[in-house]
Amino acid sequence: MTTLFISDLHLDPSRPAVTRAFLDLLSGEAISADALYILGDFFEVWIGDDDDTELNQTVIEALKVLTTKGTPVYIMHGNRDFLIGEQFCQQSGCQLIADPTVINLYGRNVLLLHGDSLCTDDTDYMAFRQQCRSQAWQNEFLSQGIEQRRQLAKQMRAESKTANSNKADDIMDVNQHEVLRMFTQHDVDLMIHGHTHRPAIHQHKDSHAKRVVLGDWHNSGWVVRFPTSGEFTLEEFSIS
Ligand code: MN
Repeated sequence: MTTLFISDLHLDPSRPAVTRAFLDLLSGEAISADALYILGDFFEVWIGDDDDTELNQTVIEALKVLTTKGTPVYIMHGNRDFLIGEQFCQQSGCQLIADPTVINLYGRNVLLLHGDSLCTDDTDYMAFRQQCRSQAWQNEFLSQGIEQRRQLAKQMRAESKTANSNKADDIMDVNQHEVLRMFTQHDVDLMIHGHTHRPAIHQHKDSHAKRVVLGDWHNSGWVVRFPTSGEFTLEEFSIS
């Protein structure tokens, strides 16, 4: 049996092929998987569980079919969809997990994160992250109408794009000290995350520890397949 990990699908009506690839995964391989983990930025934007667009409904229904058939689906917040809440979970059958979370995977402890919390060199983003994860900020945002929230999200995205275009590349990658700190703090030798869109398997701590970075889904998709044997793989597949 196998556990599957994906992240950064950035589901959006403008990219139907990505949605189709995800629905194919749900109705195919995921059915016989032990579990499916979605490690954040599942949606390009999530302005609240009450935003029942056609895309959101389609995805929720497909997840419901899978979870009803018996495959557990765990979802973690990313920086685009941290407003996924209770109602989404009830409707889809998904279970929300904290960022970070340690799971025991066939006897091995594995740390799961979205990945943005590791990018500590990006101090402006870290400050924004702290602000928008506060209950006060979220209550204020969610108290507005859907159209207003959509506009605000658009505006925030545009500001973030402008800010990021002025940042050096390595500022938006993980900070190596923070990575080592997380290995130590959680006493693990394996972590899996996404966010940076730089898929790779990195060695840390004199090769004792591995950090698996999932890629984003665009012209291709990325999945970590973790079988009972523990011999996991990071694989790319094409999205047509
Ligand atoms: Mn992200």
